[in-house]
Amino acid sequence: MKYFKKILKYAIPYKSFAFLNIFFNILYALFSALSMIAFIPLLEVLFQSTKKIVIKPKYSEISSLKTYLEEWLSFQINHQLNEDIGVTLIYVVSIVIALFLFKNLFNYLALFFITYLRNGVLKDIRNAIFDKIINLPVTFFTEKKKGDIMARMSTDVLEVQISFLSILELLIREPLTIIFTLIAMFTISFKLTLFVIIFIPISGFFISLIGKKLRRDSDLVQKEQGNFLSLIDETINGQKIIKTFGAGNSFIHKFQNSTEKFFNYSNRLLHRTNLAAPTSEFFGITVIGFLLWYGGQMVLIDQEIKGSTFLVFIGLAYNILTPAKAISKSIFSIRKGDAAAARIIEILEAENTLKDKKDAIDKISFKSKIEFKNVSFSYENQVVIPNLNLTIKKGETVALVGQSGSGKTTIANLLARFYDVNTGSISLDGIALPKMKKKSLHDMIGIVTQDSILFNDSIINNLIIGKKSATKEEVIKAAKAANAHHFIIAMEKGYDSHIGESGNKLSGGQKQRISIARAILKNPQILILDEATSSLDTESEKLVQEALEYIMLGRTAVVIAHRLSTIQKADLIVVMKNGKIIETGSHTQLLSKKEEYYNLVQLQQI
Ligand code: ADP
Ligand code: MG
Repeated sequence: MKYFKKILKYAIPYKSFAFLNIFFNILYALFSALSMIAFIPLLEVLFQSTKKIVIKPKYSEISSLKTYLEEWLSFQINHQLNEDIGVTLIYVVSIVIALFLFKNLFNYLALFFITYLRNGVLKDIRNAIFDKIINLPVTFFTEKKKGDIMARMSTDVLEVQISFLSILELLIREPLTIIFTLIAMFTISFKLTLFVIIFIPISGFFISLIGKKLRRDSDLVQKEQGNFLSLIDETINGQKIIKTFGAGNSFIHKFQNSTEKFFNYSNRLLHRTNLAAPTSEFFGITVIGFLLWYGGQMVLIDQEIKGSTFLVFIGLAYNILTPAKAISKSIFSIRKGDAAAARIIEILEAENTLKDKKDAIDKISFKSKIEFKNVSFSYENQVVIPNLNLTIKKGETVALVGQSGSGKTTIANLLARFYDVNTGSISLDGIALPKMKKKSLHDMIGIVTQDSILFNDSIINNLIIGKKSATKEEVIKAAKAANAHHFIIAMEKGYDSHIGESGNKLSGGQKQRISIARAILKNPQILILDEATSSLDTESEKLVQEALEYIMLGRTAVVIAHRLSTIQKADLIVVMKNGKIIETGSHTQLLSKKEEYYNLVQLQQI
């Protein structure tokens, strides 16, 4: 219950619905007891065993309420009876029907209001998880499986939602139904009712035994679900490779393995859950059996209670069974809910290691320089950047070159603060990155990466993602600068064309030009281009290169380029190897040194 309690706070905004639910559940419980009692006069009429009360009884005090009601009913019945037995029957049956009508109406109303709470909680938890996903650092997602997160957001949240109904039923509705029914039973026969009460905790004990292992089973089921969701995701994304490498069968095998596990785990879970209702029903009917034997004696031998009253008493006792069954089911459901809540809480309470400090400042503009001072960094255990010093002046274009794996992207990641350095510091105008708000840092930065990240939306919406207020003219200007305008307007719906999942309806070069246009439109103070033109053919690259040179004018830019011909005009070229800077200088300076850069250029000219 520990985790479920934490989730309970999501119900607070909906507490008025909870109160309405409770209110109608009280009425429901009351009417469900009353509707059973209403059978007494009906049976009396049928058996014609009513005492002849011909004087209308008077209400005196609360303690004699029961006698008063009994006498009043008898009086009414007799009053009618004397006139016409047919009419009386209709009269009594109508009361029964009316009471049942109200009972069910209140039941519906209670469910009606709880619906808002349940679905509201569902909505809010999903929103909260999504919020968290947006804000958590990228490291969180390299460790977690996508499918696992999706499973938590879909089925776990649903499980919690179901539990919310259970908890209210468990706390309010069913206990009240039991209490009201018990009161009615006590008024009929104290002795018989005591007899029933003794049996309830005994059955409760057995039922709770079954529920013990539920939590672990539920965890296994969910974990496996996460696994196969991840697998589906991977399979859909990796279609082309799977097909051409003939890996279909091995993926099918993997998937079937996972669904087989899921099959076994969820069978176990369902078997356990399914055991709840039959067990409690069986215990219930055993109680009734004893009751029939014991009460039967009271009716037949001791003649303590009337046959008709005893029948109703049995009805009432059976009436307790339904809520008792519901309670045992609720306990199960809450156990499962708690397991689901634990998985949700794990995401909601995941520590955001890159959270803004309280005193983090807003930095509006970049004025003089970016400084890497004795920076060391490792993703996990392996050191990627041992000790790096680099200064980038405002307005300069700095190119990072070197073999793949030499740490170029890592430097871009650190500058954008997707990760924090281990030691040393990166500062902007002398202010260390962790001291400023992430939002203000990200507002200053524009990134174009090698794998263009586009969203399943229209071109225009992909473009304006960093500048919602952009006018159509600005968008077209940016697209023209990125050499994308002409292919966009050639599409059927122009800027409103949808580009499919991750932009898959476009070619690699088109995707890249759109991400360049997106960065141009944002007009950032610091531009990071990480192999931004690598998917373009030489022709398009030339065109985009011109555009990039144009927007880099007077702007601070960190350019990572594979093709060295594209960075010749950079103010500073930084040559990297194994996370270290081995050479710096301008194109001509480095060429004349005839060392690493010279060699790299030579290699590319072959
Ligand atoms: P480059 O961009 O120069 O090709 P990277 O900066 O991407 O190189 O990578 C530098 C080194 O860091 C590589 O050895 C790579 O294996 C490692 N690396 C990159 N990203 C991660 C990551 N998310 N987790 C662990 N290691 C990583
Ligand atoms: Mg890279």
